[in-house]
Amino acid sequence: MRILVTGGAGFIGSHLCDRLLERGHEVICLDNFYTGSKDNIRHLLGNDHFEMLRHDLIEPILVEVDQIYNLACPASPVHYQYNPVKTIKTNVLGALNMLGLAKRVKARILQASTSEVYGNPLEHPQRESYWGNVNPIGLRSCYDEGKRAAETLMMDYHRQNHVDVRIVRIFNTYGPRMAENDGRVVSNFIVQALRGNPLTIYGDGSQTRSFCYVDDLVQGLIAMMQCDGFIGPVNLGNPNERTIMEFAHIILKLTGSSSKVENLPLPADDPVQRRPDIALAQQKLGWQPKVPLDEGLQITIDFFRKKLAC
Ligand code: NAD
Ligand code: UDP
Repeated sequence: MRILVTGGAGFIGSHLCDRLLERGHEVICLDNFYTGSKDNIRHLLGNDHFEMLRHDLIEPILVEVDQIYNLACPASPVHYQYNPVKTIKTNVLGALNMLGLAKRVKARILQASTSEVYGNPLEHPQRESYWGNVNPIGLRSCYDEGKRAAETLMMDYHRQNHVDVRIVRIFNTYGPRMAENDGRVVSNFIVQALRGNPLTIYGDGSQTRSFCYVDDLVQGLIAMMQCDGFIGPVNLGNPNERTIMEFAHIILKLTGSSSKVENLPLPADDPVQRRPDIALAQQKLGWQPKVPLDEGLQITIDFFRKKLAC
């Protein structure tokens, strides 16, 4: 098949391109390199089955493809809040453009949505049936509401135009190729620990997240794209929940760093707790994450060690 991956030069997108090429597909990677990097896909540039398109998803594009994975959107709060109007445009106009394309060329389209659609969740763990607790006017809403609107568009194109859609709600994912300046907790803590700088804990560190290794996540994306008769939304994540304080100590232990921890103010609307209920993914896709946290983190730490040469 010929497959379009938007955001393919980003962290998750580049791993997805690798896996799709390994399976014998032709991959067209579309990216504007806002948070993505040529380094993530350099190893693919000589591959005859791989094509790179520098394009901004808020502009329409016509390419003949069989499947579309729509991942283009900055995922780190630091980057998506840098230009919030652009973030919501990417989510809404990007989804519209990709749905228009999917309708025209009759491609199946998968939307990368997020656990952020649950906002600061009042239900724990989060099931797909939960409608969420999202602040529509806060600093995170360009991303949260943008993704919610993208889900709405997917469902409306499906109901109105019979577009073959898939929706996945991705929970915190980590692994090699996260950008050093990404601003998310995994890369921040690892880079700080390796450099001997203090680990910056926002708030008192009692908030929780559940971290999924990127290879597991990408397998879930492909399983969902291949699944007939189930459009989602489905949660993809690792239910292994940790407080951020606990997480800082895991990173210190695995890096052998003697960095201190320091407490900084908690950003507005930072969700207090987050853990996916993955029963639906297990039942419909036979999917569940396999890589234990320590193992995935060790691979990620090795990646950053090489990158920072320390
Ligand atoms: P990332 O920032 O590394 O990748 C996003 C990619 O999209 C980058 O390559 C960026 O340059 C590209 N992009 C951004 N705006 C664009 C535009 N207007 N036109 C074209 N390309 C554009 O982030 P990631 O972690 O790889 O996330 C990928 C997707 O998964 C995103 O949609 C994100 O919302 C979703 N997601 C990720 C996580 C996570 O923990 N990583 C969690 C939930 C959802
Ligand atoms: N966080 C932190 N220190 C950092 C970066 C993030 O304590 O240097 C916290 C952040 O406040 C949040 C959690 O870690 O509670 C996860 O943040 P991230 O930006 O990785 O993802 P998200 O908030 O989108 O889940």
